[in-house]
Amino acid sequence: MDRRNFLKTGLLGAMVAASPISISAFDTPIRTAGKAGRLNLSFRPYELKLRHAFNLARNQRTTTPGVQVQIEYDGLIGYGEASMPPYLGENVASVTEFLGKLDLGQFSDPFRIEEIHDYMDSIAPNDRAAKASVDIALHDLTGKIMGQPWYKIWGLNPEKTPNTSFTISYDSNPDEMRKKIEETAGFKVVKVKMGLDHDKEIVEALRRVSDVPICVDANQGWNNKEKALEMCHWLSERNCLFVEQPMDKKAIDDTAWLRERSPLPIIADEFLQRLPDVKRAAQCYDGINIKLMKSTGLHEAYQMAVLARALGMKVMLGCMTETSCAVSAASQLAPLADWADLDGNLLIANDIFDGMKIVDGKVTIPDRPGIGVIPV
Ligand code: MG
Repeated sequence: MDRRNFLKTGLLGAMVAASPISISAFDTPIRTAGKAGRLNLSFRPYELKLRHAFNLARNQRTTTPGVQVQIEYDGLIGYGEASMPPYLGENVASVTEFLGKLDLGQFSDPFRIEEIHDYMDSIAPNDRAAKASVDIALHDLTGKIMGQPWYKIWGLNPEKTPNTSFTISYDSNPDEMRKKIEETAGFKVVKVKMGLDHDKEIVEALRRVSDVPICVDANQGWNNKEKALEMCHWLSERNCLFVEQPMDKKAIDDTAWLRERSPLPIIADEFLQRLPDVKRAAQCYDGINIKLMKSTGLHEAYQMAVLARALGMKVMLGCMTETSCAVSAASQLAPLADWADLDGNLLIANDIFDGMKIVDGKVTIPDRPGIGVIPV
């Protein structure tokens, strides 16, 4: 059996094995008409259930809406995913509406990823998570056709992946807080969500049991530059690696002021989305947090990482709460990142893929073609 037939058979087997979960867990798939030698897109909503409520600076939530995507071409299937945390403005209705407008059947070559992105951008300017779901499925598909994982296609060394951080947020219940901290055992970096009223308490609670390096995400929650600078100094004395999005994304001058004075690198997250934002970020941040759901997928995320490094900036690779599908796609870029925050699949209780693993705290890219996932 040649590699291609093996892949087809293996994938079909995996899909049959996955079908009981798929049927019970998914809504009815929405399919476009399938044609031989053409790209056939299908998609279905899939709500991600968080293992702990997320307490962020500006909201709390227990689920994240998602949409699972497949692109079938010549018997092979590429998997993709859109995850839509509410602050980014997309939802199941907007993503399925966008995907419903796409006519991917006009394309006979899945390797025309650039052209397909141009086509998607011509349909609507935003809808970044929706575009990412198609992009991820195309990368999975084309990697499978080539029989190679994408890190190899990009020429990257899989040993050079960073440790991933594991995210915790404050909980007013001390038992819950202790449980959250216990779950960080085994991770070499802990990411602390800040910008609430208990910023120092959470670090102090963690420091009572562990001296593991932390990184801090203020999620735009510090509302003045003096407070932000005071926090950066306080954190730099407590083994903190960097601070992500300390202030409002529009506070450009204040962020530039902070960067001049901060002992810790200042990383942009909400400030930037896509490739053209990287140069803008270079004016007031030391680095960028690239996420596939903001960048419209791997095609632009790769270019963002390369550009940021060329500009002398730090690269952080992040994710939303996602299944192992999108997280494994992001992990293909991990050798280009200084820091990774790829714990989205670990934060959900209903993953439906096997893929990227954290081994000894380190991002470990699956040795499988495409984005490296199989349905479970
Ligand atoms: Mg962030």
